[in-house]
Amino acid sequence: MRCYDVAVIGGGPSGATAANELASRGLSVLLLDRNGRIKPCGGAVPPILLREFEVPESRLEAKVSSARMVSPSNTQVDMDIGGFVGMVDRGSFDNWLRRRAADAGADYVEGHFEGLERSRHGQLSVLYRAGGKSAAVSKARVGAVVGADGAASRVRKQAMSQQETMKHVFAYHEIVRSPDGKTPWFDPERCDVYYQGKVSPDFYGWVFPHGECTSVGAGSAIKGFSLRHAVKIMRDNSRLDDNAIVRTEGAPLPLKPLKRWDNGRDVVLVGDAAGAVAPSSGEGIYYAMSSGRSAAKAVAAFLESGDARQLGNVRKDFMASHRWVFFILGIMQYYWYSSDKRREKFVEICRDPDVQRLTWEAYMNKKLVRAKPAAHVRIFFKDLAHLVGLNPR
Ligand SMILES: Cc1cc2nc3c(=O)[nH]c(=O)nc-3n(C[C@H](O)[C@H](O)[C@H](O)COP(=O)(O)OP(=O)(O)OC[C@H]3O[C@@H](n4cnc5c(N)ncnc54)[C@H](O)[C@@H]3O)c2cc1C
Repeated sequence: MRCYDVAVIGGGPSGATAANELASRGLSVLLLDRNGRIKPCGGAVPPILLREFEVPESRLEAKVSSARMVSPSNTQVDMDIGGFVGMVDRGSFDNWLRRRAADAGADYVEGHFEGLERSRHGQLSVLYRAGGKSAAVSKARVGAVVGADGAASRVRKQAMSQQETMKHVFAYHEIVRSPDGKTPWFDPERCDVYYQGKVSPDFYGWVFPHGECTSVGAGSAIKGFSLRHAVKIMRDNSRLDDNAIVRTEGAPLPLKPLKRWDNGRDVVLVGDAAGAVAPSSGEGIYYAMSSGRSAAKAVAAFLESGDARQLGNVRKDFMASHRWVFFILGIMQYYWYSSDKRREKFVEICRDPDVQRLTWEAYMNKKLVRAKPAAHVRIFFKDLAHLVGLNPR
């Protein structure tokens, strides 16, 4: 039986980041990923992800420099991003992250996680099938486990004594071939965001160009709502209806961090498994990597000290950095996504140059912009005027 300091279950952005950083600290790491299936994802990432996690720009398939907001009445408001949103292909991006972790010393095994086992003396082991579901079960003895196996986490189901309900939407997208260059309805350097009840009654829809391919998708928590029909509306609008489909796929998208990420003993959750996704935008790649980094720090401290309270610092660390952004985005989702009347106003607000600058700077740098306090005050009063029905334009 193999022994490792840590087993990281799942090699998406959260797990691959945690494994890379744990191995770089000199710990012995098993990184287990079933591989083979590309994670359904729009692939939009902020530039700060490249800087903070040392990802070269060459990993991007495309950069978009503007965003078109589309309201229920089909009013279009174009926003200048004042920088860029990067687009990654999750097949090659995740592969690259896993390879980087392996180069740092992690033992990367393609295989299926089966479960956790605890001996009479409390020793934790991981059971898995290297190579796939039909292979024999292997067992590795480990000091700690990082559960990075996505929204439907099996680690979470097995390790957490109290199962919290995960707040989520179901997100579905179609990857289609992009047109050759710009058309009157499609721009390879622009992402389109649909705030329309018919596209999503409680979330939004998107058209994200990735160079040769484009992701057209939408999310909703409402059972029976046809996301396929929503995607058809957007494909028709962008004149992508006849473009060849490369893949169609969907997955749950968490929208609120769980209250507890660790089992108080030797297991901690990260990324989607912990619900570490921004409300309202559904942005999860950057936050997955951020939580993976927090986990590496805390797990290393736990293994050194034997103090399991260190594992509680993963969530604390993460929330200390992102609490305000998550709070504001949570309110936005609750208020602005609740009716077409409000969505219409929301898109109208996006016309405001102060809103545009502050929104995109906050997205790109993951910081609330402090440089221009007067702009915040202006936005506050404009927002207030919108809310009470006075159009300040
Ligand atoms: C349709 C859609 C569009 C999205 N668009 C965006 C976007 O544009 N930008 C953005 O930032 N976020 C987006 N997200 C969210 C983002 O994809 C996730 O938040 C992010 O992938 C979370 O990373 P993770 O590493 O925690 O989990 P995942 O990326 O889900 O990785 C989990 C890994 O665990 C592995 N695994 C699972 N079970 C097992 C098992 N039993 N054995 C072995 N391995 C296992 C899987 O193979 C996978 O590699 C989108 C999500 C969806 C569903």
